[in-house]
Amino acid sequence: MTIRNNSVAAFKLPDRSPFTQIECKLHASAKRLKLLAGSSGIRLIIPPRCPKHVIQTFLLSQEAWLNEQVQRLNALRRQDSHSQDSHSQNSTMRFPEVIELYGGMEQITCVGLGPGTNRLTWDADKRLLHVPTDNFQHYLQRWLIHQAKQVLTPRLQRLAHDGGFEYQVLTIRLTRSRWGSCSTQGNIMLSAALLLLAPELQDYVMWHELCHLRHPNHSAHFWNEVSRYCPDWQQRRTALKTVILPTWVYQ
Ligand SMILES: [Zn+2]
Repeated sequence: MTIRNNSVAAFKLPDRSPFTQIECKLHASAKRLKLLAGSSGIRLIIPPRCPKHVIQTFLLSQEAWLNEQVQRLNALRRQDSHSQDSHSQNSTMRFPEVIELYGGMEQITCVGLGPGTNRLTWDADKRLLHVPTDNFQHYLQRWLIHQAKQVLTPRLQRLAHDGGFEYQVLTIRLTRSRWGSCSTQGNIMLSAALLLLAPELQDYVMWHELCHLRHPNHSAHFWNEVSRYCPDWQQRRTALKTVILPTWVYQ
């Protein structure tokens, strides 16, 4: 990958970096890596010719700060959506023109349908979603859960098979506070919002929950087990904490 020194272009961290939620800007005059947090998100300023591994190490070293910022941003968004909700029946919430799945690797175009329509239509070939604008988040959430079931169910089966794990029932719900859980009965729950995340983050959550089948705690044994399947789990775990979900997922 080549980045021209004189361009101040946004670029994504290369090669399946899990840090997809941070906006990266290359600054020709920047002397060192710098993180900035605003009301719209987190931005990483990158000086010219900065090697990838230096960026990754830098982000990992900033984990505590990143966590703080993401919590602050999430709280801000929740506040936003609540205050909008109390003013009018969520009609002021912005209709999403695009939904980004797999950490932005796939984009779905949303087209609003006027009053009187109460059905969402999904054109999988064109990646086009026609959504009633009235109460659109309800339709989008239902669609997301449906899609997540189709993607996450076979994926979890695959990983369980590869690692020799046996779970009982998989439930997929739209949860805001957690990405997944595993009960002592061997039932796994995954959040449908995982579909919005990069595949390696989806896999990390699934391995995490599968490993709870063997260790129902977060002991050193548990993390050892996780690292057998996911050697870079620490990096993925950090990245997961920096994820900011679109507002329509919250309501
Ligand atoms: Zn856990």
